[in-house]
Amino acid sequence: MVKRFGDNTVLDNLNFTVSHGERVTLIGPSGSGKTTILRLVMTLEELTDGYIYVGGTPLQYEQQGGKRARIPDKRRRRTTTDIGMVFQHFNLFPNMTVLENVIEAPIHVMGLSKDEAVAKAEALLDQVGMAWKKDARPSELSGGQQQRIAIARALAMDPEILLLDEVTSALDPELVGEVLGVLKDIAAETDISMLIVTHEMQFARDVSDRVMMFDQGSIVEEGKPDKIFSEPEHQRTRDFLRAVL
Ligand code: ADP
Repeated sequence: MVKRFGDNTVLDNLNFTVSHGERVTLIGPSGSGKTTILRLVMTLEELTDGYIYVGGTPLQYEQQGGKRARIPDKRRRRTTTDIGMVFQHFNLFPNMTVLENVIEAPIHVMGLSKDEAVAKAEALLDQVGMAWKKDARPSELSGGQQQRIAIARALAMDPEILLLDEVTSALDPELVGEVLGVLKDIAAETDISMLIVTHEMQFARDVSDRVMMFDQGSIVEEGKPDKIFSEPEHQRTRDFLRAVL
């Protein structure tokens, strides 16, 4: 895939696959294109060229009369239910309760009945340790609690892949552990695919099947976390890890 913003080529002929159940973490300096990849998969940005497939279905664009065109809204909607994203800033609906945040999309996008959606949401809130706050508003909760609810909300859509974009970087340091702990449990207990951008190198090491080191929109090197963190082959990876570890 190729992504340009004006003259700035952010991703240049990038090509990679995340297998079913695989956890892949993107690391690399700020501005190297990591978040753009997640936003493209989430269809929040348009690809300049190429395709992204999720579960065998091409995302975001289809060829129409030789022109690249946005796919119709209806289809966008369907394909994006295959993907769950958790953002740096939680992005919960502030005017809804915790429970309402989690049942909203399953009812309106997936077409679950309210009873089905509530049962599912309660189980997921339990999984992230937040069932006891189901009637609270986001503003009454800590950042770590809000992020755990955002994780439950993403999982409520049964996504094929969960995209995690710097999910702890807006949190006070003492709240980081509870969010990473929940994600580690989900990684251990489910076979959901994950594409992760994080500065938490220990988390990346613990949870990833594969780590990809990015610089300037290209993969510098990739491999199992032990290999990338303990024996990086490229000087750029060594320099990056020395700066962040
Ligand atoms: P990273 O996540 O690795 O820090 P980003 O994907 O956020 O990197 O950014 C990669 C490059 O794309 C940067 O040069 C950034 O300035 C540029 N970029 C990202 N989003 C936009 C945008 N909406 N408009 C213009 N340039 C953008």
